[in-house]
Amino acid sequence: MPAFRTLDDADVAGKRVLVRVDLNLPMQDGKVTDTTRIDRVLPTIEELSARGARVVLLAHFGRPKGRRVPEMSLRPVARALSDILGRPVTFADDCIGEAAEQAIAGLKNGDIALLENLRFHPGEEKNDPAFADALAALGDIFVSDAFSCAHRAHASTVGLAERLPTYAGRCMEAELSALNAALENPAHPVAAVVGGAKVSTKLDLLGNLLEKVDYLMIGGGMANTFLAAKGFDVGKSLCEHDLAATAREIMDRADGSGCRILLPVDALLAKEFAANAPHRVAAIEDVGGDEMILDAGPETVKALTAVLRECRTLVWNGPMGAFEIPPFDTATVALARAAAELTKAGRLLSVAGGGDTVAALNHAGVAGDFTYVSTAGGAFLEWLEGKTLPGVAALMQ
Ligand code: AMP
Repeated sequence: MPAFRTLDDADVAGKRVLVRVDLNLPMQDGKVTDTTRIDRVLPTIEELSARGARVVLLAHFGRPKGRRVPEMSLRPVARALSDILGRPVTFADDCIGEAAEQAIAGLKNGDIALLENLRFHPGEEKNDPAFADALAALGDIFVSDAFSCAHRAHASTVGLAERLPTYAGRCMEAELSALNAALENPAHPVAAVVGGAKVSTKLDLLGNLLEKVDYLMIGGGMANTFLAAKGFDVGKSLCEHDLAATAREIMDRADGSGCRILLPVDALLAKEFAANAPHRVAAIEDVGGDEMILDAGPETVKALTAVLRECRTLVWNGPMGAFEIPPFDTATVALARAAAELTKAGRLLSVAGGGDTVAALNHAGVAGDFTYVSTAGGAFLEWLEGKTLPGVAALMQ
């Protein structure tokens, strides 16, 4: 991984430090319902404050599409942040112009301010030069700490990095180190678990992973497309039959690059997609015409766990089955727990993220036991796809 500067390299005392963070928190009725994203950026905020910076937080909330939408104000987030930090957080009613300038002028060394939703201005998502200039005028230094927004070339991810001395925050640094350890420079053998509903949304991801990993464990609904392409009858399962040729091509490419694709050998079958629907375990060649594969079966979990025991690195994206409806969460939970145990024993470096993965690992009660769980959705997926993220590239300049 090319080098990027971190807070270790920054002289921040007395400086106005603009920090791009992800505070796009789940909210209900104006109240924050999950503070995970605040917890992730606390180390950066607390360190900067302790080192005497005037900390100015920049963030977005929701999709206001360049207009001021009162329900998408960050004001409640400033309150939640202040509660967690146990100290005041100044809130500015706008992220550029007089309101922002006044709030920042009032900060003493170590104080913290949060500016209003960046996306109230159309210039943010367009990376408009005038808007980026107006943001840059508010600070002396830029700290980029929102990996989850780094797949977008916005004013607050790329524009500021082009205008101010730029450093990765602690959350960004942790994320890049974890992804680097898992995919760019991993200890082999490397396994990837890729699950979820559809192959069509993960073609680029599979194409990139099969070049990099030793074992590609495919689960969830998307495994059905591969099974059908191999000639198995998958009954009424979710399956993209029109992608059979693509699935075969992926399997051929994996063969050619020394990557073993591991598909389910058995499954949990049901006739309806519902919690506690009557179900049975069957070998993959025994799926009835009126049945659906809703989860991988116990033999599959056993086989995959045995392979994981031989691996040194694991990348995980997507559930092994319809994990929201029991008992079709069984394989996801069992495999996640096995990976967590191996990680705790120091035998596996495990990195997970993207889409429903965090929810699935939380459901299994093991999110805290993986080496790193990314809270980034789209950015994590684009990284797995091997794409260059503009907000990360901007850090490398
Ligand atoms: P994704 O967003 O692509 O990661 O897909 C996650 C969704 O895939 C979850 O909502 C799961 O319920 C669903 N899913 C996983 N396995 C299956 C399956 N065998 N049949 C139907 N849906 C599934």
